[in-house]
Amino acid sequence: MIIMKFGGTSVGNSDRIKNVASIVKSYIKKNPVVVVSAVTKITDNLIKLAKESAEDKRDETFDLIKKTHYKIIEQLELDKSLIENDLQELSNLVNKTKSNKNIDEEILDYFQSFGERISSKIVAEQLNKIGVKAKAYNSWELGFLTDAEFGSAEPLAIAYTNLKNNIKKLNHIPVITGFIGKTEAGDITTLGRGGSDYTAAIIGAAIGAEEIQIWTDVDGIMTTDPRIVKNAKTIEKVSFEEASELAYFGARVLHPKTILPAMDKNIPVKVLNSFNPKGKGTTIVNKAGKADRTVKAIACKKNITVVHIDSTRMLGAYGFLARIFDIFDDYKKSIDVVTTSEVSVSLTIDNGENLNYIVNELKEFADVEVANDKAVICVVGEGMKYTPGIGGATFTALGKKKINVEMISQGASKINVTFVVDGKDADKAVKTLHQEFFG
Ligand code: ADP
Ligand code: ASP
Ligand code: MG
Repeated sequence: MIIMKFGGTSVGNSDRIKNVASIVKSYIKKNPVVVVSAVTKITDNLIKLAKESAEDKRDETFDLIKKTHYKIIEQLELDKSLIENDLQELSNLVNKTKSNKNIDEEILDYFQSFGERISSKIVAEQLNKIGVKAKAYNSWELGFLTDAEFGSAEPLAIAYTNLKNNIKKLNHIPVITGFIGKTEAGDITTLGRGGSDYTAAIIGAAIGAEEIQIWTDVDGIMTTDPRIVKNAKTIEKVSFEEASELAYFGARVLHPKTILPAMDKNIPVKVLNSFNPKGKGTTIVNKAGKADRTVKAIACKKNITVVHIDSTRMLGAYGFLARIFDIFDDYKKSIDVVTTSEVSVSLTIDNGENLNYIVNELKEFADVEVANDKAVICVVGEGMKYTPGIGGATFTALGKKKINVEMISQGASKINVTFVVDGKDADKAVKTLHQEFFG
């Protein structure tokens, strides 16, 4: 069996969905299990709808969501009744939210769930139309249970057993909602934005798939984001570790959590282009083999906040770092890059939410400075372990372009060099380094 996951743009309109169905059909001999994202932009619009409903605003966003799906259904000549129940349930949720005038993480997840619930039904129906026996499933109908961390839920151990047992029994192709799950108490959760890749990997690991295919809108994992560098090239093979670092530091093509379940079971992950199904894409494997290039790729994550923490009072005191990390932990803030000296620590976080509280607690024992709109850039490649001078080449190239660099750090795995630049310099830095390492 294989997993075939299709992202938002791959199911973005009626033509794209026809294309997806024919790609799935071409893999029929491999017993595909299909995982789908919501139609492109729908998740954003569902979040907008949730917020507008809490403010009791007009229903334009609801109408837009409805129209987008109806248009696809009409163009595919399917029956509108296919999504009637979901739209009715969403409309009820809108009304309830309007009267409550309030949303929390749980309600936000409930709103977002409709994107995948609707797209899976359309894709399954299109498959049936072209003679491929398929059925849409909300992931929980196959046992995808999660904890109750709304907005970033994790699967329960039992989910793996459930999925395996339930999927094995099927005699048709399941088209499963990515991104969402349910708690044991029956509340809908999401795995976090871009989480359908993670769903695909979890299901792949559960059923011991032969391969996990992530179908997207570019030719695989590339030397950098092709939206920043037009001539970025597809990388044929990367290791799980390299892919992990790249995903973690901003290569949106893969959700950062995707790698772990696949790596655990040693299942190869392929990143493929639904707009170019014959392309080779990228294969992510345990050992990528000898690299032809030392540097494999450059990732970039924008809108980063840097927190500088300075405390001469803590000079030589043990527990300084622990105390700092505990505070971030209390507010569930994950830290990406850390640099330290004897009395100061600088660290980066994804967004400034709750930062006031954190800063106030830190100020009890340290001076704190916050800098917004920074970017983290990460240069990745297994070969860097054995090749000296990559750091030197990186910073010389940036220096020549007068790009100021701070917080340089090398991951413990030694396969990356990571640093921070000003947000305004981010694209220039990526372009400069791409030119330096890939010409
Ligand atoms: P999907 O909707 O299929 O999940 P995403 O938009 O989440 O697709 O991810 C694909 C996008 O990731 C590409 O369009 C590209 O702009 C971006 N991207 C960022 N870094 C890379 C990279 N190194 N290689 C390929 N794509 C990248
Ligand atoms: N639809 C969700 C999102 O837009 C999940 C995904 O596309 O992977 O974030
Ligand atoms: Mg994605």
